[in-house]
Amino acid sequence: MTVLKVAIVSNQTPKSAAANERLHILLKEAGHTIDQKDPDIVISIGGDGTLLSAFHLYNHKLDHIRFLGVHTGHLGFYTDWRDYELEELVESLCRDEKQRISYPLLDVSIRYHHEKEDRHFLALNESTIKRGNSTMVADIYIKDDLFERFRGDGVSLSTPTGSTAYNKSVGGAVLHPSINALQLSEIASLNNRVYRTLGSPLIVPEKEWVTIKLPETTDYAITVDQISIREEQIDSICYQIAKERIQFASYRHTHFWDRVRDAFIGELE
Ligand code: NAP
Repeated sequence: MTVLKVAIVSNQTPKSAAANERLHILLKEAGHTIDQKDPDIVISIGGDGTLLSAFHLYNHKLDHIRFLGVHTGHLGFYTDWRDYELEELVESLCRDEKQRISYPLLDVSIRYHHEKEDRHFLALNESTIKRGNSTMVADIYIKDDLFERFRGDGVSLSTPTGSTAYNKSVGGAVLHPSINALQLSEIASLNNRVYRTLGSPLIVPEKEWVTIKLPETTDYAITVDQISIREEQIDSICYQIAKERIQFASYRHTHFWDRVRDAFIGELE
């Protein structure tokens, strides 16, 4: 029998709190230890949003941590288990043979006008840039070549697993997570006789990068998943598929297109 160090990250709903309590008992009975500091496996209890929070808590240990999501509502994109399946889940942990599946992440690098050091983030879903109440103007470079001058509400850069989240709401394509690429989607671009953008989502491969160069204005709102960053003097933000990947414990497998159908289409008659 395998014994693991397990960390649990739960949201605050009564259903999640009950599942959290039950999981603690089952894990201890099976001989596993709860280790919030240096776990082998991080179990999130809640929804996809909770798994995103767990990822940001442990994203400095990605080389040796695997994640696993328990959903207290419907099945999610990062959550393979339901809260009434905890016994089965703990049995799978006991039979663990280090099975894993990994997905691409987005490397976000913010550069500043003055001497401040670059800041780096990893996104599991996406990063967006928007500008207060006025039109955002930005030069978009692919590799080091100017591709277009964007005017509009903003842009979203997403991972394949994030393509079903905010990216989809702004008209982006759903990308299978076996494709190692990032997606650039426009948010309400201005397109008329004077201003011109591509007007459709763009898929950029692993070895290429996108740089969004911003004029020196102070009111940019940047997000990395659920994290908001408001900073001044931003010169540009560079996006690339990260060298790190997120690993999930893959005791069971739900096909990606089944998840997509289940989440957005439902049962066919
Ligand atoms: P939230 O605003 O409380 O929830 C956003 C919703 O997106 C939840 O229903 C969540 O599912 C779902 N979601 C998260 N990741 C997903 C994925 N990869 N594929 C499909 N659906 C996904 O925010 P949050 O829970 O803190 O999550 C932050 C994420 O919300 C952001 O990364 C962004 O993608 C998304 N978001 C979307 C919009 C939009 O579509 N207009 C606006 C703001 C933020 P669960 O219910 O399972 O948690």
